[in-house]
Amino acid sequence: MEDYPRPAIPLHPVLSRKSLSLFTMDAARTPSILDNKNIALVTSGRVAIAMALRELGIKKGDIVLIPAYHCSSMVEPVLWAEAIPVFFSINSDTIVNIEDITNKITPDVKAILVTHYFGFHQPMLQIQQLCKKNNIALIEDCAHSFFGIIDNQPVGSFGDYSIASSMKFFPIYDGGCLVSSTRPLDSSGLRPSGVRFNIKSLLNTLEQAFEYNRLNILIPFLYWPLKLKDWSWSLVKKIFLHKKITIGPGSSEGGYSFDPSWIDKEISAPSRFFMCISNKQRIATERRKNYQYIYKQLSAINGARPLYNTLPENVVPYVIPVIFDNPEKIFPILKNQGVPILRFGETLWEGVTENVCNTSIRLSRQLFQFPCHQELSQSDIDWMVNTIKETLETYH
Ligand SMILES: *Cc1c(COP(=O)(O)O)cnc(C)c1O
Repeated sequence: MEDYPRPAIPLHPVLSRKSLSLFTMDAARTPSILDNKNIALVTSGRVAIAMALRELGIKKGDIVLIPAYHCSSMVEPVLWAEAIPVFFSINSDTIVNIEDITNKITPDVKAILVTHYFGFHQPMLQIQQLCKKNNIALIEDCAHSFFGIIDNQPVGSFGDYSIASSMKFFPIYDGGCLVSSTRPLDSSGLRPSGVRFNIKSLLNTLEQAFEYNRLNILIPFLYWPLKLKDWSWSLVKKIFLHKKITIGPGSSEGGYSFDPSWIDKEISAPSRFFMCISNKQRIATERRKNYQYIYKQLSAINGARPLYNTLPENVVPYVIPVIFDNPEKIFPILKNQGVPILRFGETLWEGVTENVCNTSIRLSRQLFQFPCHQELSQSDIDWMVNTIKETLETYH
């Protein structure tokens, strides 16, 4: 892995004064995965997938269908359950290939994971029907679609179980949810995630905000506690270095690793608190507004084009996905300038080849995702868009 500079603007939402509905109006109800009946707030989306598999009674040798376009944190929980992942293809518009799914159904197929990529919805009624007909459990992966409505129902209401990755939408260190609109969830079984983890969660959220010059008003009050945290943390690390200890899960540190010890652990109290008092309406409207602005700026350039041509009414985007003609050349140039880029599906599971799904291979290579989250300022966005445009004009 090459070392690129820290992104010049925040890749993920960071806490600001405007984030919280204490300071701004949050009048309208904003439909989200939290509108489902049974909810467990845990520390990550991948842990929620593992818990869904367990609730469904997935056992050794069962097959779980997974989209060929995926990240490894969708596959790891399946291996943890000792089940076998089998990959199905998606179409070039990222809608799942129903025909390929149908062809892959055997008596051993017990569950399917379906992802609303980048916040854009899958045809859930059709998928739900197919699952019912074949007695397959449906796990709706709302990691990119915390908010939204599909066929007049909130996201996450189609799956037998549904999961989300709260960190992708809120300015928090940890957070995922497991929900079900139809099945009970024994969330009283959740265990507290520990005092040290809770402190780390709070300090990290504040630290991220300070790094990007948000919440500067608090710095005089928190400078010393944060310094103290750094010192004591590096001391602790020194003492326990040989044990390679970490307090936070990989999911909170930008990795894809899956650690089963986080199963059944509750979201940290600070993350729960910030999620709770976040202005959800602002998250939804700002993301849509930013997406549309960036789309307009990037839709008529040479060398790249947005993946989707429209932003449907009930979609709250996670990011804006853009296809590049010359990704290998452009990626390091953008990264070295501090442009924040996500690459969902950059590494696909072994065995996912062109024969399985050539769209996934193509997107894995050519698709970059840029943030459109609620905490980007207009100047952040203009800087990002102009840097992308200038880079393409110069190097394409
Ligand atoms: C991020 C992600 C997950 C896992 O969520 P974490 O909170 O990172 O564990 C699952 N599915 C998709 C599609 C994701 O992008």
